[in-house]
Amino acid sequence: MEQILLGKPVAKQLDKNSELLINAYKDKKGVQPLLTAITVGENPASLLYVSRKQDKAKELGVDFNWLKLPNDSTPIEVLEQIEATKKISQGIIVQLPLPVHLDFEEIVNLIPPELDVDGLTTHNLGYLYSKNYKILPATSLAVLELIKYYDIKTEDKNIVIAGRSRLVSSPLSKLLSSKQFNGNVTVVHSKTSDLKSYTQQADILISAIGKSRLFNIDYLKKGSVAIDIGISNVDNKNYGDINPKGLEEHLIARSPFPGGVGPITVSALFANLAQLIK
Ligand code: NAP
Repeated sequence: MEQILLGKPVAKQLDKNSELLINAYKDKKGVQPLLTAITVGENPASLLYVSRKQDKAKELGVDFNWLKLPNDSTPIEVLEQIEATKKISQGIIVQLPLPVHLDFEEIVNLIPPELDVDGLTTHNLGYLYSKNYKILPATSLAVLELIKYYDIKTEDKNIVIAGRSRLVSSPLSKLLSSKQFNGNVTVVHSKTSDLKSYTQQADILISAIGKSRLFNIDYLKKGSVAIDIGISNVDNKNYGDINPKGLEEHLIARSPFPGGVGPITVSALFANLAQLIK
C-alpha cells in the first residue's frame, strides 16, 4: 500500500523553526520583520498564491506589504517600487508569472540578494554550486524537506525530474545530483520524445510540468516514489501531474495533489526569510 506523503507535517516542522528565528529577530529589533510581495497585473492564480503567503505571514508574526502594480508597469516602475521598499523590508518577492512584456530574469535581479527570499536572483542561484548556500528556491527547498522528512533514500537512485525551469526543476536537478543527495538525475522536458522510456526507469519521479494527470500508472515503475509539484486548471478544477488511479498497490509512496508539496512551499518561503534575518 503506497504511503501518502502529506505536506502539512513537513510545513509545521519548518514553521516551528522559522517562528523561533522570527521571534529572536523581534526580541532583538523590537519590530516584526517585513516581507514585501510585488504582483504585476491581476493573474488570479498569482493573487491566490500571494494571499496564502499573506495568511502565513500573519500566522508567523511577519508584517506583509503587498504592492499591486498595474499590468502595464515598466521595468523602471518595478525598480522604483523595489528601491522604495528595500530599506524597510527584510525580504522581497516578485510573484510569477509576470506579464509577457516584463523579462523575469531582468526583474528578479533588481532584488538585492540579501532580500531575495525566493532565492531566484542569478546571484543566489549561483550558490547552488557552493556548499555554503543560505537560500534555496522555495519549491526546491519544499521538495527536499519532504524527501528528508519522510526519509526517502536518494543515493544511487534513478531520479527523473520532469521540467527544467529556473523556478522549480533546474535547482532540484542540481541539488539532487549533488554530493549531499547523490542521486542519478535525469531531466526530461517538452522536447523529450519518449517520456515513458525515462519515467519507467525512475525510482523517484518528480514532476513539475503542469499537465493535468499526465503521468498515469503506465509511466511509473512498480515500487517507486512519485512527487507531484505540477498544478494545472481544467474546467475550473485544479489537478496535479500524476494520475493517482490504481497507484495504491503500485507505488511505495506518493505526494498527493492537493496537500503535498504546495503547503510546504509557502512555509519554505518563510524558512528562507528566517535564514535571511538570522
Ligand atoms: P514552467 O516554467 O512552465 O516549466 C514547465 C516545464 O515543464 C518546462 O521545463 C517544460 O519544458 C516542461 N514541459 C511542459 N510540457 C511538457 C511535456 N508534455 N512533457 C515534458 N515536459 C514538459 O513551470 P514551473 O514554474 O517550473 O512550474 C511547474 C509546475 O509546477 C506548474 O504547474 C506550476 O503551477 C507548479 N508549481 C507548483 C508549486 C507548488 O508549490 N506545488 C510551486 C511552483 C510551481 P520546456 O523547458 O521544454 O519548455
